[in-house]
Amino acid sequence: MIKAIKGTRDILPQESAVWNRVEEIAREILSVYGFSEIRTPVFESTELFARGVGEDTDIVAKEMYTFDDRDSRSLTLRPEGTASVVRAYLEHQVHRDPQIWKVYYLGPMFRRERPQKGRFRQFHQLGAEVLGSDHPAIEAEVIELLQLFLDRIGVGETELLVNSIGSSQCRARFSQKLQVALSERVDALCPDCRRRCRSNPLRVLDCKREPCQPAIETLPSILECLDEPCRLHFDQFLGHLKRRDIRFKVVPRLVRGLDYYSRTTFEITSPGLGAQNALVGGGRYDGLAEVLGGRPTHGFGFALGLERVILLCQQGDSPPAADRPQLFIAPLGEPAFDRASLMARDYRRQGIRCFLDFVPRSLKSALRLANKLQSGHVLIVGENELKTGAFPLKRMRDGQQIIVSQEEVVSRLGNGF
Ligand code: AMP
Repeated sequence: MIKAIKGTRDILPQESAVWNRVEEIAREILSVYGFSEIRTPVFESTELFARGVGEDTDIVAKEMYTFDDRDSRSLTLRPEGTASVVRAYLEHQVHRDPQIWKVYYLGPMFRRERPQKGRFRQFHQLGAEVLGSDHPAIEAEVIELLQLFLDRIGVGETELLVNSIGSSQCRARFSQKLQVALSERVDALCPDCRRRCRSNPLRVLDCKREPCQPAIETLPSILECLDEPCRLHFDQFLGHLKRRDIRFKVVPRLVRGLDYYSRTTFEITSPGLGAQNALVGGGRYDGLAEVLGGRPTHGFGFALGLERVILLCQQGDSPPAADRPQLFIAPLGEPAFDRASLMARDYRRQGIRCFLDFVPRSLKSALRLANKLQSGHVLIVGENELKTGAFPLKRMRDGQQIIVSQEEVVSRLGNGF
C-alpha cells in the first residue's frame, strides 16, 4: 500500500474543522489590523532562498527540497515565506505606493528536517510582514495582534522572548568579541558550533544542543554592543510592549537562525509543546530587500507554525457546529428518495446543511444515525407525506415534532424549531 511520505500528513475532516476555525480567526484579526492576504508560488528559484535565507543557515545548507527543472533551472519548494513576500514587493514595485505594505500568508512550507512531534517536512505557516516602516511601535502592534490571536484560539500559556541583534555594524563588533570568548571555549562545543565559530559565530548562540549550553550561557551579550540608535530603538520597542501590558523576557542569546534579521527579534514559546516549543518566530529584516537586489526597505514580520498551535487548541470528540447537519432528510422507500433528493437540493440552495440518507433503512435506524451525526432536525419523507404534502419535522434536542409543508421547513429551522 502506498503511504504518505515521512514528515507529511493528512489533515482529516475531524481535524480540518479546527484548522478552518483557526484560519478564520487569523484572517479576521489580521484584517482588523489592516493586513491583506498575499499568495505567492509554492516554488521559487533556488537563488531567492540561498540569498534571502542565507547560505550558511541549516535551512539552505541541509533542508531545502531543491530540484532541477526540465530546462536545468534550479528550483526550490519554499522553506519559508518572507523571501517570497519581499521578492513580490520588489517585483511589483510596491514601494511606489507611499503606504506601508501589510500582508499576510497562510500555506505549506517544506524543510527536510528530522520529523518528530510538532516537526514535519511539509508544515504550514501563518506569516505577516510589514514593509516600509522602521517604527518600533509597529513591532509591538504585530506582537499585540499575535497575542490576541493566540488567546482567541485558546492555546493556553505562552512566553514572549525578545532581543535586539542591532545593526550589521553592532553585530560586527559583537562577532569579534564573541570570537575571542568562543576561542576560549572551543573544546566545550559540538562540531557544528566549532565550524560556526569561524563562519558565523553569532549562530553558536542559536545552538539547541544540550552539551553546548553551559559554554553558551557564559558568552558575552549582544546587548552590550548595541550602538546608540539601536539601543534607543530597542528601549522604545520594550516601552511600547509595556504600555500594552504585554509581558516579555529579554533573552540576549535569541539571535534567530536567519541572516537577514536586524534589531528586534522575538519568539513565542509554549510550555505545552515539549522539545519543539517555538510557536512563533519573527523580527526585523531591514537588510533583506537589498540582499535580493532591491532598494533598501524596512521590514518586520513573523511566522507561526500552524501544526503547533493546533496541537495546543482544545479538540473535542464531537464534530464542530459548522460540520453538523442542520437537517437530516430520511426518505422512506425508493420513490420517496427521488423526491427527497430534490427537496435536499432546494434546501441546500437556501443554505441549509442537509444530510440526505442514501442507504435504505427503517425510520428507527435513520433516527439513530441522525443522532450520531448530531443533526439539529430530521425531516421524514415517506409516500404518505408526499401524497398529503404534510411532513413530520423532528427537533432532535428534545424530540418534539411538528407537521410542516415542504416550503415551511426553512423558516421553521430559522426560528429555532
Ligand atoms: P522559522 O521560519 O524557522 O522562524 O519558524 C517559524 C515557526 O514555524 C516556528 O516557530 C514553528 O512554529 C514553525 N515551524 C518551523 N519549522 C517547522 C517544522 N519543520 N514543522 C512544523 N513547524 C515548524
